Amino acid sequence: MKITGKTKLLGIIGYPLEHSLSPVFQNQALRALGLDYVYVPFPVKQENLKEVFQAFKAIGVRGFNVTIPHKEAVLSCLDHVSDKARLIGAVNTVWLEKDGWHGTNTDIDGFIYPLLEIKRDWSHITPLILGNGGAARAAVVGCAQLGCEKITIVGRNPEKLTKFGLSWHNTPLQSRISLHGWEEIPTLIPHSQLIVNTTPIGMYPHCQQSPLPPQAIESLSPETIVYDLIYNPRPTLLLRQAAARGLTTIDGSDMLVKQGAVALEIWVRQKAPLSLMRQSLLEALDIKTE
Ligand code: NAP
Repeated sequence: MKITGKTKLLGIIGYPLEHSLSPVFQNQALRALGLDYVYVPFPVKQENLKEVFQAFKAIGVRGFNVTIPHKEAVLSCLDHVSDKARLIGAVNTVWLEKDGWHGTNTDIDGFIYPLLEIKRDWSHITPLILGNGGAARAAVVGCAQLGCEKITIVGRNPEKLTKFGLSWHNTPLQSRISLHGWEEIPTLIPHSQLIVNTTPIGMYPHCQQSPLPPQAIESLSPETIVYDLIYNPRPTLLLRQAAARGLTTIDGSDMLVKQGAVALEIWVRQKAPLSLMRQSLLEALDIKTE
């Protein structure tokens, strides 16, 4: 990649950013498309978020991804926010147009992408979403978009769970959502055909942890899909346990690549080389976990 005075800037803001894999597959994609762009990680602390927008406009940053801890706070810095980002209450993709900064959320596209490959009557499937943080919000909207009529969420902290529930009031999703305590998992499992782990339980370096005990895995019905949003390690213990029972499993790598691909398409208005981006992510993950 040859960087010159004409090279256009894209990037990601968050803090910390040392472990972000987005620069790896985004730069690979930009090279493959032959575009004179570079995608740069910009570590931005919370107290500097507002200034970033003016600074980026001044130096000509065309667009950027947003990650922890800015996904929610960034909403108040934008001139235009898409409906789905408002519904989730989080933005992960920002771009500049003549009328100002625009923001949307491509995590939903990422989340549903591997599920769309699986043929199911989603209206009859009740997902069980483990966790009630940021990724759980994308999972809820994604499941609703697939057509799931009922969506069950379990959380460990009653206060946060109540707040999570309240945040969907007066939205079309309110009537589809039911909230439960973590201890209710064994009774909910027989009614769930899609398990989604949105907690960090099992993420590197805690690879020997699983959000579900072995008895819960045993009680899953044979057609259950087990989806873990974690992509490092790949697969997690949860997915290894589910695969050992012959269940369909999905890891978080497709979601990560697809959310990035949709963002790239917004910025450069060209089709993203998805399989190349995926390959580049998987190579980086292999190196990371060695
Ligand atoms: P987050 O906002 O911090 O939410 C994490 C959730 O997990 C919270 O509800 C938290 O509960 C719960 N949790 C944490 N430890 C737990 C435990 N031991 N037992 C029960 N619940 C626990 O984080 P996030 O942004 O949603 O990310 C969550 C995971 O999804 C991470 O592993 C991240 O890598 C992954 N992710 C993947 C992608 C992808 O593209 N594949 C995208 C986004 C996120 P409390 O609120 O009570 O703390």
